[in-house]
Amino acid sequence: MAQALFQSSFLACSDLSSNSSKGSDIFGSQLRSPEIELSQLRFLSCYKRNPTLRLKALMESPGLAQDTVDDKPKVTRMIKEVPDHFKELKHRFLSFKKDKYLSNLEHYNGLAEAQVPKFMVIACADSRVCPSSILGFQPGEAFVVRNVANLVPPHENGPTETNAALEFAVNSLEVENVLVVGHSCCGGIKALMSLEDEAISSSFIKNWVIAGKPARLQTKAVASDLNFDQQCRHCEKESINRSLMNLLTYPWIEERVIRGKLSIHGGYYDFTDCTFEKWTLDYKGSTMLSESSCSIKNREFWA
Ligand SMILES: [Zn+2]
Repeated sequence: MAQALFQSSFLACSDLSSNSSKGSDIFGSQLRSPEIELSQLRFLSCYKRNPTLRLKALMESPGLAQDTVDDKPKVTRMIKEVPDHFKELKHRFLSFKKDKYLSNLEHYNGLAEAQVPKFMVIACADSRVCPSSILGFQPGEAFVVRNVANLVPPHENGPTETNAALEFAVNSLEVENVLVVGHSCCGGIKALMSLEDEAISSSFIKNWVIAGKPARLQTKAVASDLNFDQQCRHCEKESINRSLMNLLTYPWIEERVIRGKLSIHGGYYDFTDCTFEKWTLDYKGSTMLSESSCSIKNREFWA
């Protein structure tokens, strides 16, 4: 056991050593000198101090993993499961490389130089609503940011990764369309609708979805006669429109909308019946309405 541990830790340490070939010779020998004992202790110490090294050694030696992590069954399970998942991902990646990348090499070489996407997409982090899967975006076609409940906070809320992505997509990439995609059965919207009024929480989720509070209030105002699930469906769409209006609170977005360089769209993907609803913000109409209202145009229903 000790010898196995020593050998594996040395292999993992080899990229840190300037004399790995000498070490291999030593390990191939059955001789045990004081110098070797000292080396074993040094590498054992290195192995124990370095979590990355320990993990690497475990992954490279399944038998060793069993011997050394008996006191941590969760780590053992993770090591057993990960290779199967990545075997499938490796297969998919190599298929992508063969069937798409190498078959369209000129296109991908162009993408290596620059990206010119027409769309900026803001979608939910939910694993069922990947915009590239349901709308067929190919590499280079859409600059995407995903967050819980596909929310766009107003400008006054300050920096988030979502408006950082927006700033780059609008000002640097000069995308022509911003599309906010909501979806059915959204857990983030359910969390928003479940918020206690004015409750202070340490939950990151609650403190994020609170940005959609106006949509929640609007839903409660107009759909109070519906049951909770129906209110959530209503809020899923209401929050999209609130996000479209929030986009206009960013001066550099509104300016491009006014100049006709940028269009703002909403989308709603219902995965219970696989339908997609799409609409476009009517800027002139919206500015004539009250602050809480949104005028839309070009509504389409894809079924
Ligand atoms: Zn969601």
